[in-house]
Amino acid sequence: DTVHSPQFGTGARIFGIETEYGVAITGVDRHVDARQVAAMIFQPVVTQTRSTNTYLCNGARLYLDVGSHPEYATAETRDPLDTLTQDLAGEWAIRQLANQAQQRIRERVGRDATVHVFKNNVDSAGHAFGCHENYLVRRYVPLTVIERELLPFLITRQLFTGAGRATGHGFELSQRADYLDEAVSSATTRARPMVNTRDEPHADPEEFRRLHVIIGDSNRSQFATFMKLATTHLVLGVIEASIRAGRPSGFGSCTLADPNAANRAISRDITGAFTVQLAADRDETDAAWHRHGVASALDIQQRYLDIVKQKVRADRDTIARSLPRTDIDQVLADWQDLLDLVAAQDVDALADRLDWAAKYRLFEAMRRHDPHVDTWRIQQVDMDYHDIVNGNVYPSLIRRGMMRTLVSQRDVNGAVDTPPRDTRAALRGRFVQTALRYGLQFSCDWTRLTLTEPVHGEVVLLDPFDACPTPRFEALIAQMKQADTVSAPLA
Ligand code: ATP
Ligand code: MG
Ligand code: MG
Repeated sequence: DTVHSPQFGTGARIFGIETEYGVAITGVDRHVDARQVAAMIFQPVVTQTRSTNTYLCNGARLYLDVGSHPEYATAETRDPLDTLTQDLAGEWAIRQLANQAQQRIRERVGRDATVHVFKNNVDSAGHAFGCHENYLVRRYVPLTVIERELLPFLITRQLFTGAGRATGHGFELSQRADYLDEAVSSATTRARPMVNTRDEPHADPEEFRRLHVIIGDSNRSQFATFMKLATTHLVLGVIEASIRAGRPSGFGSCTLADPNAANRAISRDITGAFTVQLAADRDETDAAWHRHGVASALDIQQRYLDIVKQKVRADRDTIARSLPRTDIDQVLADWQDLLDLVAAQDVDALADRLDWAAKYRLFEAMRRHDPHVDTWRIQQVDMDYHDIVNGNVYPSLIRRGMMRTLVSQRDVNGAVDTPPRDTRAALRGRFVQTALRYGLQFSCDWTRLTLTEPVHGEVVLLDPFDACPTPRFEALIAQMKQADTVSAPLA
């Protein structure tokens, strides 16, 4: 019998969100392109760490690939509320860097220069970029089950996770639907899968996988970010538990005939009523609800929710314990509420918590005000909603109390340099804080902390749940503090 890590047999999970941002500049005569602006945004990072790929004091990863899309990947968390807070801390950090870059650009090329950083997924030229969710999943969950039992959920959850998008010919729930072309794949460059199966668990590969979900939109709504993670966690929990128990989860009855076509069709229907084809070889455990071989996004979501509710009734304690800060019953109530409001087509009631609904309501108001309003004007407001630096629409909704918030600005500010306490991110954070304080060169990845200058030292953190410093870790920190005598500490 193999000895498993303590969290293997529990419902506990590790979460992370990667957010890629779009960069643009306006108000300049001379041509300054997005790539240059992105480089300017990263200048202070490069000065401090000599790299455009670094880890921060809160355990997050901040980097700039070739191109102009800064990316912030949150540190590992155990609860969606913490993931949300960490993601907002990333937003805050990038906003500060962008404001500083704007200041420097204004000094050089004129005071109208305005830097835009978009937390969305499609730029004005139609190029798409991502927001990836990461979920630690037990290794015994086969990828075929992910495809058959999770994908229908991921495709239909856009009813509440969609960020909305004004296109030339109408309105779509999701930003990404038109840019994905494969269900489950390990391919990276050409094909764009909904779930990426590249096997990089950042944990013991015998026990865990890291589920890398590509299909989601970036959300500005705190509620949408939170619900996206919390509901996906619950569905994954049911899948894991049913495999362990050797019983069908029930989700197999939702397998879609053509996930890609369904994804696109559902994105175009804010009523959630449009029906899509179910797979002919779907699991027939309970055929009653899909007698005709078709189901709407709302039907499918309700089926997922009903099964989750049933499992919570059967095993409340285990499921409640799986999230340290989140109230499971509240999530279930909110989830039901969302589906009921979509079914009632009550966009106004949804507008205080969902991005697509908030935007839809704004666009409708613009059309009421001026029936001939230009599409480009609507698309401008759409972009403004996602601009975390100079956007007016979203902050004004927040100021007027028209958008729900779940975490305070104080918590967000705290998370800018404080890692989650209950994952290995706590150790990474301390390591980075120490390195920066003493002016030492370091490099990290998710499972490794490496001191490179003035002396070499390394600690491996294979268990993402483990926040306990080992003697070896403490020795590395002590070594770093002594390196003080070799290289002077930063002020
Ligand atoms: P790249 O962007 O370079 O292609 P990637 O998308 O695979 O890489 P990163 O951008 O480095 O990955 O982000 C990884 C995310 O996964 C982070 O948010 C991190 O917190 C999270 N994470 C780390 N370890 C685990 C794990 N064992 N299980 C689930 N999530 C994890
Ligand atoms: Mg990434
Ligand atoms: Mg990724």
